[in-house]
Amino acid sequence: MSFEQLGLSSEVLRAVTEEGYDSPTPIQQKAIPIVLAGKDVMASAQTGTGKTAGFTLPLLQRLSQMDAPARGKRGMPPVRALILTPTRELAAQIAESVASYGKYLNFRSAVVFGGVSINPQISQLRKGVDILIATPGRLLDHASQGTVDLSQLQVLVLDEADRMLDMGFIHDVKRVLALLPETGKRQNLLFSATFSKEIKALAGRMLNDPQLVEVAPQNATADRIEQHVYKVDKVRKRELLSKLIQDEDWRQVLVFTRTKHGANRLAEQLGKDGLSAAAIHGNKSQGARTKALAGFKDGKIRVLVATDIAARGLDIDMLPNVVNFELPNVPEDYVHRIGRTARAGLSGKAVSLVCIDEAKLLRDIEKLIRRELPRVDIPGFEPDPTIAAEPIRQGRQGHQGAPGGGGRKNRSSSQSRGPNQGGGRKPSGGAPGVSSRGGSQQRRRGA
Ligand code: AMP
Repeated sequence: MSFEQLGLSSEVLRAVTEEGYDSPTPIQQKAIPIVLAGKDVMASAQTGTGKTAGFTLPLLQRLSQMDAPARGKRGMPPVRALILTPTRELAAQIAESVASYGKYLNFRSAVVFGGVSINPQISQLRKGVDILIATPGRLLDHASQGTVDLSQLQVLVLDEADRMLDMGFIHDVKRVLALLPETGKRQNLLFSATFSKEIKALAGRMLNDPQLVEVAPQNATADRIEQHVYKVDKVRKRELLSKLIQDEDWRQVLVFTRTKHGANRLAEQLGKDGLSAAAIHGNKSQGARTKALAGFKDGKIRVLVATDIAARGLDIDMLPNVVNFELPNVPEDYVHRIGRTARAGLSGKAVSLVCIDEAKLLRDIEKLIRRELPRVDIPGFEPDPTIAAEPIRQGRQGHQGAPGGGGRKNRSSSQSRGPNQGGGRKPSGGAPGVSSRGGSQQRRRGA
């Protein structure tokens, strides 16, 4: 199957060719024709499957075929398509994709998220934005200030819906939905890695007779990833990690810790071992995060240590190695973590350093992915059988593997907004934080 066969226009095809994509991924093959036909979609797909192009390419084409709505009462140009996404990193990445895929079409796109000054976003919205990529909290800020008009929206994309709910954004999402034209008067696309009861309920509310699109089951990405469990005592994990990186000559490795503090400490210790390392998490300034990511992508930083939410949606081309320095509290996060490697059909390697305290977490993960992970003993690092298991300390809030990063159960929606969606962007030069027409972003808080 080729992109041409999907019925995409020459402008879109040209951009796709320039991206170097030879053929559509399974989600693209299924979703693109449905979106082009103007139907609503409920799709199960994870990051790494090519879902961003799966909704962006047909969305661009749809918009180019539809008339633009007239200016609203206050003379503000209405937004035509809204892509709602849970984290600022993801928002920034999608904004880049929209700008790349849409470079031969004449749409204005912009990204808005919290943690950065709202003023540049306001001036951009005033000038007119056809495609807006947003995190829910900042979008609502704009709505309450009357700086965005969503009343004539033509296409809505809700990306990573499951994550959105996990992060406590359900009320914000509902508030956003209330600002849009009625369900039947807009096209709606919902993407989610999993379909829980809550997601189905949300889908019922926002979709109009949707077509279901399911590609490979939830954990399919994991099939292309070589996964191992290295059994090791907690106190020797850092030493083992250093050794693995050096002995195996890993040039680019993304390491996950459960806590922000743990990420900092590990990056520091690895630095002392002579390995260039940096940490990214919600307590780091956006500048520091951007710099760390850029350094990691261009090879200056060999080890990037991250918490789950900070790394959510990170798209690092051809990342060969992921290490779980600590297993996540939520088994689904394991799948998200290892999915940073083996993207777009490539293979990758994921290693988990597991101590006795983590036995239950490992069992939960294996249950979820429905397979037993091979255990490896590294000579000289065999666990001490006299050490007894201790309960895992959860950090301050102990949810989602990132303390302070989004416990949904006990947070009000305004509380839950902040830590997960400050400003953020893919550090690849170009207009910071704004996909196609310039602008600038700083951060406030974030995961
Ligand atoms: P996504 O799941 O949207 O985050 O995309 C994952 C990665 O796959 C991104 O780096 C895309 O650039 C890449 N990608 C998307 N579609 C294709 C395609 N048809 N062929 C090759 N790579 C692709």
